[in-house]
Amino acid sequence: MHILIVEDEKKTADYLRKGLSENGFVVDVAVQGEDGLHLALVGNYDLVILDVMLPERDGWSVLVEIRRRGKPTPVLFLTARDSIPDRVKGLELGADDYLVKPFAFSELLARVRSILRRGPARQPEILCIADLEIDLMRHKATRGGQYLDLTPKEFALLSLLARRTGEVLSRTLIAEQVWDMNFDSDSNVVDVAVRRLRGKVDDPFPKKLVHTVRGVGYVLEER
Ligand code: CA
Repeated sequence: MHILIVEDEKKTADYLRKGLSENGFVVDVAVQGEDGLHLALVGNYDLVILDVMLPERDGWSVLVEIRRRGKPTPVLFLTARDSIPDRVKGLELGADDYLVKPFAFSELLARVRSILRRGPARQPEILCIADLEIDLMRHKATRGGQYLDLTPKEFALLSLLARRTGEVLSRTLIAEQVWDMNFDSDSNVVDVAVRRLRGKVDDPFPKKLVHTVRGVGYVLEER
């Protein structure tokens, strides 16, 4: 889990970075609003912890811009401003939670975990297709209640197909999304990966879910 902290007080930023790192999070820190916004937009963060009073660009405006650009990354406001109107404003602008300084680290950690459990608002945590269940947060998949032992790439491939169930996905799109790169058109990396995935997801079960659409690509659906 990757967290971005946007905080101009060095002491608070160091304290947060240390505590979150010790709890297994990968942490980046930005000390200015503009840098924080840039990182939040280009980085792939699971959560942004955002101070309100920041140099250059305040936290309100950072959040507004993150949401305007369509980024669903959860945001936790951390601020000394504790008036009710301020809290309401933060939540109305699309923050996921609001914590007032000074705070206990244990409370911050509990809130961070609670937000991460919820995941980005626009995405369901568990996808179900027939008796296939994919838990995106826990990186766990089962079929008929039976645990599927998947590699991280196999899980990514299965999640991609499941998120867009019923839609035929081309080999090129799958390669870009799962491997984050382009393959030569004659590369069979995707076909090999799909074959391996089928070995685990479909072969042991009578009902097949992963289908080949000749000349186009692959689709996951209940037929
Ligand atoms: Ca500040």
